[in-house]
Amino acid sequence: MTAFVRYESKLQAESAVIDEIVLAGDGWMKELLPGQVIRIVDLEGNQAADTLFFDAENPDDHYSAVATITGQSNIYLTTGSILRAESGKELLKIVADTCGRHDTVGGSCSAQSNTVRYSHDKLHMHNCRDTFMLQLAKHDGGYNYTKRDLAPNVNFFMNVPVSPEGGLRFADGVSAPGCYVELESLCRTMVLISNCPQLNNPCNAYNPTPIRVLVWNP
Ligand SMILES: [Zn+2]
Repeated sequence: MTAFVRYESKLQAESAVIDEIVLAGDGWMKELLPGQVIRIVDLEGNQAADTLFFDAENPDDHYSAVATITGQSNIYLTTGSILRAESGKELLKIVADTCGRHDTVGGSCSAQSNTVRYSHDKLHMHNCRDTFMLQLAKHDGGYNYTKRDLAPNVNFFMNVPVSPEGGLRFADGVSAPGCYVELESLCRTMVLISNCPQLNNPCNAYNPTPIRVLVWNP
């Protein structure tokens, strides 16, 4: 069940056209052109990068965990995995992975889930759903993204083992400083990242840290 195809990228940071740091609690939203490659780096290890994708030519068609899992017959993502939209369209392909654990089923944290999972006094805490919505609101483009566009997302680097009975556990992370995942865009793809600010979850080792995002041209 646990698939990990370790593959190191040959791309050099010096030739990237985008090279940015996203602090814990911050977001990142940009469109990739066909053939562009994005790398998300877990700079300090055990971080969770909550990420959504949209077909930029038809933004109603967002990343689908169900279509992705069904298409590859595996809940885990690694090198070779194709990330699909609701329509089944292939959005991106993972072309390198040095981490080996990327959650497809846990979803993002929200004010509501923080109160249910942890305690009611967590309601005010910064969370990924709010970061997603802030990025959508700030986005200046042809399509007006709203919270209706939010869907169950990928959590890169997050360790959520699924038991044979179908149970979920938010476990201590397996990622390490410098681990990364790299994806090639197969079409025009909008990428929306919330670098999780979660302080209550062992996936982050209770210590949210920055990620680095790099993009290369074809
Ligand atoms: Zn979060």
